[in-house]
Amino acid sequence: MSKVKEIQQYLRNTNVDAAFITTPDNVFYVTGFQSNPHERLLGVMVFKDAEPFIICPFMEIPDVKATGWAYEVVGHADTEDAWDIVLKAVQSRGALPTSITIEKSHLTVERLERMEQLFEGATFTRLDEQLNTMRNIKSEDELDNLRKAAALADYAIEVGCREIAEGKTELEILMAIEFEMKKKGAEKMAFDTMVLSGPKTASPHGTPGDRKIQQGDFILFDLGVVYNGYCSDITRTVAFGEPSEDMRKIYETVRQAEQAAVDFVRPGVQAMAIDKAARDVIEDAGYGQYFTHRVGHGLGISVHEFPSVTGTNELALEEGMVFTIEPGIYHPEITGVRIEDDVVVTADGVEVLTKFPKELQIIQP
Ligand code: MN
Ligand code: MN
Repeated sequence: MSKVKEIQQYLRNTNVDAAFITTPDNVFYVTGFQSNPHERLLGVMVFKDAEPFIICPFMEIPDVKATGWAYEVVGHADTEDAWDIVLKAVQSRGALPTSITIEKSHLTVERLERMEQLFEGATFTRLDEQLNTMRNIKSEDELDNLRKAAALADYAIEVGCREIAEGKTELEILMAIEFEMKKKGAEKMAFDTMVLSGPKTASPHGTPGDRKIQQGDFILFDLGVVYNGYCSDITRTVAFGEPSEDMRKIYETVRQAEQAAVDFVRPGVQAMAIDKAARDVIEDAGYGQYFTHRVGHGLGISVHEFPSVTGTNELALEEGMVFTIEPGIYHPEITGVRIEDDVVVTADGVEVLTKFPKELQIIQP
């Protein structure tokens, strides 16, 4: 069943007249049309009993048609009020909807106020959970794209390791990675590439800069690419020259924690048990206070999506769910280490999409 038909089925089951989906990632998921409209209005309206339509910037109509979208598409020029065009398209389908389901966690107050004006008296319900549930389980086609995105990310780490040299800056290494990714056909990076060295590895969300690589550094790469609209997200931490005993101990603890969590993945296990599997290893080694974030997050069209792999999520894993496993230890006086893989829940266990080695890689100066 197409995603549009699934939404229609949902509207019938819940007796809601229409769904208006406006976040670019969900528009792509439902329609196959990928766009970054910035502040301009992009959306797909699906009706319980009428044909859906896409509203997009006028200049993007040919791009919508090129995806094979089988229904109406209406465009708005920059000089027009996009909401007038939405209203006309809705009116042409008959009576105005009295109930509309929207993405409440994303739709801006400004947009909601316009919709309340246009559809006076209508009730607005949440569509967020329904879309998250649909996106939670990946199809074979989606998994293929995720596998290719992961393979490119593996190669990016390889490039990063090759580029490491005394005196090179984090940004120089980053630039070489992204250049190579574009050459390999990655549409874009999934998020800002992270190359952190030395003491900077102790910041989970650090910013690469002009720090020069030195012997004895750990270098942390966290990166991902988008392939056919699907993201990868990998982290590897490697050594430049001989690391200290303390650094080795932290590395080995994270590696064991990561592997313990990966080995725990199978259908029926709760998301929180995956977090616990990694956290127990780190706590037992005495580094519990330095593991300051959840163990992972869902991955797909968005680089962060559902399911969230936290210590409190009771959700039972199902075949086809995709998420990251990325424990870390961030010790301000010694080093930071994070290791991150992308995994799929299979019928009887786990498939690890990212394959770059996890044994400590020591790059010789
Ligand atoms: Mn990451
Ligand atoms: Mn991640």
